[in-house]
Amino acid sequence: MEAIVHTGRHFLQIPGPSNIPDRVLRAIDRPVMDHRGAEFAGIVKETLHEIRKIIQTSGAVVMYSASGSGAWEAAIVNTLSPGDRVLMFETGHFSRLWRQVAERFGIRVDYLPGSWHRGVVVEEIEAKLSEDKDHQYKAVLAVHNETSTGTTSDIFAIRKAMNRLGHPALLMVDAVSSLGSIEYRHDEWQVDVMIASSQKGLMMPPGLAFNAISEKAIAAGKTAKLSRSYWDWQEMLALSNNGFFPYTPSINLIYGLREALQMLLDEGLSNIFARHQRHGQATRAAVRAWGLGLVCQEPSEYSNTVTAVLVPEGHSADALRATILGKFDMSLGAGLSKLADKVFRIGHLGHFNDLMLAGTLAGVEMGLRLSGIPHTDGGVMAALDSLAPRSKPAPSVVEK
Ligand SMILES: *Cc1c(COP(=O)(O)O)cnc(C)c1O
Repeated sequence: MEAIVHTGRHFLQIPGPSNIPDRVLRAIDRPVMDHRGAEFAGIVKETLHEIRKIIQTSGAVVMYSASGSGAWEAAIVNTLSPGDRVLMFETGHFSRLWRQVAERFGIRVDYLPGSWHRGVVVEEIEAKLSEDKDHQYKAVLAVHNETSTGTTSDIFAIRKAMNRLGHPALLMVDAVSSLGSIEYRHDEWQVDVMIASSQKGLMMPPGLAFNAISEKAIAAGKTAKLSRSYWDWQEMLALSNNGFFPYTPSINLIYGLREALQMLLDEGLSNIFARHQRHGQATRAAVRAWGLGLVCQEPSEYSNTVTAVLVPEGHSADALRATILGKFDMSLGAGLSKLADKVFRIGHLGHFNDLMLAGTLAGVEMGLRLSGIPHTDGGVMAALDSLAPRSKPAPSVVEK
């Protein structure tokens, strides 16, 4: 058999790692420099300054050489003690994984079961917190954008519920697949610890992870008893104000991050959020036109970075993805854990535009045909109509 040779650009439409702008790749492709020198310190300080604008915080931000999971761990080991209780709602695969990290450190997680069809049910969190009169819960952990289901939770509503009850728990938020794509307001929402990483909305390769940290979380860290070394905020914060790290940082990724942040800030946060919303809407229009189901069943919680689509019973989402990869050189996200083979996920985040979305959806529609998955034609057209609404016929034409 002849090997298939693909031409043109690969379509990487998984919900992270996302596509990397050429400008960012060029910025990374430079010699390393002395990470204890003045030039690099200047770059670090500039980068930490600019990323605060994306996180919408004036508080502390630390940056690790790690994937997002490292920042999950950092959030836990810096603020909690063995045996502490935390409250969490099951939104999907990523909430499960974060729970697992906490439990591995001896944290007792009250994990409120969820259907995976919607986001955090704030009333359930509020009910649990209101029963907790002696403030056993040290933290509430929430995933802002659940990447496995395409569902975005209302973080500010969680904060408001905590404030209504006067509950002192820390609010920790995984913003890995929302930061830089979907509105996230760290200070206004009074989030204590944010978790993020480089490879999603920040348009970077994997390898950098972030915590944004409130004063309250820093104070909690001073008495928290979990062991920590690599992840220790104190050491990081002591050096990072001057642009230094306790160990060798990912120098070239930081060059790239500086460029990516510049691109994001040039576009402007409100334009970025509006762009993602348009693309989310158009993607959902296509899914509806195909007659396929969305995993997210709560319209106010539709994710604008990723859409998880159910294939009809008796059909394989993984076979569909394999066909699309083989024929059209496009990678789509797999269904995770209990959604495996039932769901494919379309990433529409980061370095992305209308024509990339049109191409992505065309690849899905052709894949549905080739795989014999029952659907209605016209998803791509529905998306185009959403992106570029047909102008109304001139009044003289419609009037008799
Ligand atoms: C991608 C992702 C992570 C982090 O995953 P890593 O592979 O460790 O970078 C965490 N949470 C969510 C919601 C994600 O989408």
